Amino acid sequence: MPVFDSRSFKDHEQVVFCADAETGLKAIIAVHSTACGPAAGGIRFWDYAAAHKTMAPSDVAETRAEQDAVYDVLRLSRGMSYKNAMAGLRLGGGKSVIIGNPKKIGTPDLMRAFGRYIDRLSGTYYAAEDVGTSPAMLAAAGEATSFVSGLDDGEFATGDPSPHTALGVFVSIKSAVAHRLGKQDLSDVHVAVQGVGHVGLYLVEHLLKAGAKVTITDIVASNIEAAQALGDVTVVDPKTIHAVDCDVFAPCALGGGLNPHTIPDIKASVIAGAANNQLEHEGVQDEDLRKRGILYAPDYLVNAGGIISVEAEVHREKVTDAEREAKVLRIGDTLTKIFKSSDREGRPTGAIANEMAEDIIAAKAAAKKA
Ligand code: NAD
Repeated sequence: MPVFDSRSFKDHEQVVFCADAETGLKAIIAVHSTACGPAAGGIRFWDYAAAHKTMAPSDVAETRAEQDAVYDVLRLSRGMSYKNAMAGLRLGGGKSVIIGNPKKIGTPDLMRAFGRYIDRLSGTYYAAEDVGTSPAMLAAAGEATSFVSGLDDGEFATGDPSPHTALGVFVSIKSAVAHRLGKQDLSDVHVAVQGVGHVGLYLVEHLLKAGAKVTITDIVASNIEAAQALGDVTVVDPKTIHAVDCDVFAPCALGGGLNPHTIPDIKASVIAGAANNQLEHEGVQDEDLRKRGILYAPDYLVNAGGIISVEAEVHREKVTDAEREAKVLRIGDTLTKIFKSSDREGRPTGAIANEMAEDIIAAKAAAKKA
């Protein structure tokens, strides 16, 4: 299976494969860069085999699933480096994936086994919550290592990062709407939110308070009901949310949603949401969106609120809510700079953000060497 030759491998410092026969743990930790500080990023627990279930023989399906996991962890960890650098954090970029269905195998024993692997990295990688992991699972991993953040309890615990992520998405939408539509507030701006889970639900709350018109979707009925309880929202089928005739499309479910099948149907003039890796192929779809006149707010800038919230916990520092909030609000200013550069240079926002992040990381690495 290619790692060094994978299209997602880009100067990663360390990739660790972890297995524990007793608990069924199969996991990968990718440390992309520690130039800006210890690598920080969530633990994604995902059933990569589910997409290949119909394949025969089953060992081929398993290989494909493992390839997907490698691709995911490499791309996500690099995204964390860029995200943390652009948010001005003293954190590098890392990520981990656990392969399997968390509902079936995500026991406290398995999480403790994974915690022991994290511990072996001696603080090179700090884990946090991501899709498929919960605060309780993080706490179980934390019994075997102190290199876990985003915990509910403890002297420096910062708790659930989702409200901070949602605030960052909200200010990103405001910044993009101001830039593209020339509107300084969101009253009557129509936003379509794909996925009303942890982040999406808080985002809907912000949007309704700001007077926006909100359309939502989700694949879980109880999540839709929770959003409906917040106020007047229109519900559409998950298959059509990207095609809603609206001002802003906010992907807050999983990645890969901006692809050749969906982009031609998008009617929004702004895309800004929490999901990681929204572009199926970066460098292809961000240019496509630009050419179609759609303003794409790079996902890792938009969703940095969560890691901004967690930074102090990694460094064992105490910060006030106001200090954290001020940092999250700065996401809007960073985006405005990128939007202006994109207009000036006639290049996609994603490419400009990547270059800025790479420059920051290279400068930090050079300063460290010196
Ligand atoms: P979550 O799992 O709580 O929410 C995702 C929601 O999307 C769920 O309600 C799920 O049912 C729904 N969903 C899944 N597939 C869907 C589909 N095809 N159509 C419509 N809805 C669908 O996750 P979250 O913590 O809210 O994170 C959302 C996204 O933001 C993820 O991509 C995550 O990686 C990213 N993110 C989250 C944070 C955070 O602080 N939680 C931080 C940074 C990035």
